[in-house]
Amino acid sequence: MTGHILIVGGGEAGLSIAVTLRDLGYEGELCIVGAEPVPPYQRPPLSKEFLYAHGEPVTAELRAPEFLTDHRIDLILDRTVDAATVNDSGGLAVLDDGTEIAFDRLALATGSEPRRLGVPGADLPGVVSLRTLADATHLRTELEHARRVVIVGGGFIGLEVAATARKRGLDVTVVETTDRLMARAVAEPISTFVLDHHAAEGIRFLLGTEVTGFAARNGRIGAVQLANGESLPADLVLVGVGAVPATGLAEKLGLVRERGIVVDAHARTSHRAVVAAGDCTVQPHPNGLDRLIAIESVNNAVEQGRAAAHTLLDRTPPPRGVPWFWSNQGALKLQIAGISDGYDDIVVRRDGVERLTVLYYRSGNLVAADTVDNPRDHLAVKRCLADGKTIDPVNATNPGVALKSLIIPRPEMDPAQ
Ligand SMILES: Cc1cc2nc3c(=O)[nH]c(=O)nc-3n(C[C@H](O)[C@H](O)[C@H](O)COP(=O)(O)OP(=O)(O)OC[C@H]3O[C@@H](n4cnc5c(N)ncnc54)[C@H](O)[C@@H]3O)c2cc1C
Repeated sequence: MTGHILIVGGGEAGLSIAVTLRDLGYEGELCIVGAEPVPPYQRPPLSKEFLYAHGEPVTAELRAPEFLTDHRIDLILDRTVDAATVNDSGGLAVLDDGTEIAFDRLALATGSEPRRLGVPGADLPGVVSLRTLADATHLRTELEHARRVVIVGGGFIGLEVAATARKRGLDVTVVETTDRLMARAVAEPISTFVLDHHAAEGIRFLLGTEVTGFAARNGRIGAVQLANGESLPADLVLVGVGAVPATGLAEKLGLVRERGIVVDAHARTSHRAVVAAGDCTVQPHPNGLDRLIAIESVNNAVEQGRAAAHTLLDRTPPPRGVPWFWSNQGALKLQIAGISDGYDDIVVRRDGVERLTVLYYRSGNLVAADTVDNPRDHLAVKRCLADGKTIDPVNATNPGVALKSLIIPRPEMDPAQ
């Protein structure tokens, strides 16, 4: 196929769409417009290795510049697509500098933006968020001068930065509104295990605690004000309270949205000339539940990007693999296989104080597992889910028995259920 495909957003999903299009033999023009001034890079290190104290920060580009040139992937950087019109045979995009780009098909991979805290003082110098390389570079400099760091939000990014800041010898407090860590994503045993680990490293936690504002001292952050009336001295605050899908352009195009851009399993949006992939989307639930789900991970961005590329060329995407995710928090390595959302039972597998696995079941079948420092269990669960099987829950509590030896066929579903 020839023509012109325009991809908006130069992150994991946008690049995956472009690379897959070329892999599938697409010969036409291919252009990525990205708002950031740098070629596509990996975000995960930004809250981890990039913030370490020693050595120069290393940026991990997703593909070498020669690769992009060789594959005739045009990159327009430091530009946003501000407006676009589309009909069934194509459309026109307008960049922030007025440049117009005509396209036959359009792919949206606009990612997400950090959720802001709507409290007084949220714009003070020293109150930062983390999404981009520019954010991480700024945070790294701030960490060099900070002594007391407050992290607002006990989710993945908050805890990763907390662990790194602590490793740099800083005084770190995590403030979280709910009563446990990573509550949206993991079950209570994982939350508690991770909290105990970080607390032993010297990180302080205030759970069930709401931030009501930030107070200035000498023109920058001086203290974090809490709903209980207390005030925490701070010279650096990271706000890590989740992300909001970037759907501004999708809204202008009139695409159906439910928080994110609504796509089907083939990354099709409500307009037949437009696909979307990555953090900007919500998609059908992988476990067949009757609701849409946002999956914010590298694995999803890459796989959904591949599906989008197939759809752009009117091909059927290959079946999706088992979703997976990781979060390195200092010495802790948390790995997630499958999607636990919608689980009705868990089985906990504890191996001393070092390793923990939580298996998630729905209607008696394994749907996901979280493992802490247990790659063997993670791989067994991935294999099990990929093969459409389950794990015998009765014997799984015994950490002496290898999980892979407990993989069994799924029980026949009662058609009446
Ligand atoms: C600090 C951090 C750590 C993470 N760690 C992990 C991890 O350990 N494991 C994991 O699985 N996931 C991790 N993630 C999540 C993962 O990085 C994201 O899920 C993934 O990057 C999503 O890719 P994306 O292409 O959808 O969006 P993005 O990577 O956000 O790319 C979207 C791009 O589109 C651009 N854009 C938006 N609107 C426009 C426009 N109108 N015109 C032009 N460009 C536009 C944005 O500027 C951005 O560059 C982490 C994320 C962050 C921020």
